[in-house]
Amino acid sequence: GQKIEARHLTKRYGATTAVHDLSFDVRPGLVTGFIGPNGAGKTTTMRMILGLDRPSGGDVTVGGRRYRDLPAPMREVGALIDAKAIHPGRSAYHHLLSLAQSNGIPAARATEVLGLVGLDAVGGRRVGGFSLGMCQRLGIAAALLGDPPVLMFDEPVNGLDPEGIVWIRQLMRELAAEGRTVFVSSHLMSEMALTADHLIVIGQGRLLRDEGVTEFVESS
Ligand code: ADP
Ligand code: ADP
Repeated sequence: GQKIEARHLTKRYGATTAVHDLSFDVRPGLVTGFIGPNGAGKTTTMRMILGLDRPSGGDVTVGGRRYRDLPAPMREVGALIDAKAIHPGRSAYHHLLSLAQSNGIPAARATEVLGLVGLDAVGGRRVGGFSLGMCQRLGIAAALLGDPPVLMFDEPVNGLDPEGIVWIRQLMRELAAEGRTVFVSSHLMSEMALTADHLIVIGQGRLLRDEGVTEFVESS
């Protein structure tokens, strides 16, 4: 497994400080919940980990590697970020296939991950006709495509039906049990208390708590 290490990570957008002096570790073999209200800086932090945004200060590495200006390869870090951004005119299968091709991943893996997320029956349909829950599943399929040791899911439960929510909890538990590093954001503490081993809580871009779920529950 590989560790995510953030040190004094900071991101400013003009006068807005989205992330302020965040330091934390995300360890392999566990589900780590990343909790905070909307606007707290969760997506910005994940984008910096992935190399999609450049920090204004501080540093973040994944397995000792720093991704800056070039996004993390899908074989190293898989991420669900903004599932709605998927090209609406393409089929789910075509979307995964083109991601596989541009990342040096065998085409057969596209079919495999469609099955893993329960979309095999609708793989040929246009993504534009998908519900938000189906888009989330497709985004998760894309995250799994490269079989990466590190996975990040930004608000994966949004738009999922109760059955989908149970499914994603199990999936995250399984990925962690395989020794992967699983970092998952939510604005719902109640959701993460059921899924995560460890919680990192932020508010207004600042670290509020960083502790195991048991300690968190006992002190809340
Ligand atoms: P340690 O025991 O390593 O000094 P803690 O007392 O804070 O650290 O950790 C308590 C439990 O939470 C341990 O089982 C540890 O593996 C786990 N843990 C600590 N920090 C993290 C983290 N950032 N991500 C995931 N798990 C963590
Ligand atoms: P969360 O994911 O926790 O909802 P975000 O990381 O999306 O929080 O946002 C944190 C803060 O940064 C918010 O105040 C948001 O408006 C601001 N922000 C995020 N992205 C940008 C951007 N590209 N330009 C300007 N401000 C941004």
